[in-house]
Amino acid sequence: MSRLTGRGPGESPLIGVLALQGGVAEHVRALTAVGARTRLVRRPGELDALDGIVVPGGESSVLDKLSRSFGVAEPLRDALLGGLPALVTCAGLLLLAETLTDAAPGQQTLGVLHVRARRNAFGSQLDSFETHLDLTGVGNVPAVFIRAPVIETCGDGVETLASVQDHVVAVRQGAITALAFHPELTDDLTVHSAFVAACANAREAEQRRIA
Ligand code: GLN
Repeated sequence: MSRLTGRGPGESPLIGVLALQGGVAEHVRALTAVGARTRLVRRPGELDALDGIVVPGGESSVLDKLSRSFGVAEPLRDALLGGLPALVTCAGLLLLAETLTDAAPGQQTLGVLHVRARRNAFGSQLDSFETHLDLTGVGNVPAVFIRAPVIETCGDGVETLASVQDHVVAVRQGAITALAFHPELTDDLTVHSAFVAACANAREAEQRRIA
């Protein structure tokens, strides 16, 4: 059955926000401000009929443990592999990464994003900072980094979208946009607006395909 069943073409996109831990409310605020409908996702059934999903930042080892204990890790992985558009930020990027440098003991990942990412890569001097960067295909955006990861290596199908101090901090792989920083902690809605537009386009393309 299509994940689009029951959706009207004119309806605003329905975007899930993985709501286990971290910056959930901030993403909901930004998504709502750009006209999306939102649904908090904690359980597998809450992934049904979404047009996209946001995996917020927080603490990746906690996200890993909670997503497995809520039984949502595998269904989320399947949905992402099935092409569900995703915007993942900071710890969300780490949750999706194929490989981690400096993982917490026992920490697992969903392994769908073909990158090696280093946790807490900017060190104590630059623990948190704010900058502006050019995000390919999106524009110049403010970016808040908080104990942020960097992407050390990119595998097949991964396109670099932005770098800071020669470190890759934003990539795209298919319908997944992965950011090491937090666009949701600024007033700028460019990233969320581009993501929701991409989700709406993906839904329309899917509707044309199954029509
Ligand atoms: N350092 C955190 C981690 O390893 C990520 C920080 C964040 O999401 N702001 O998960």
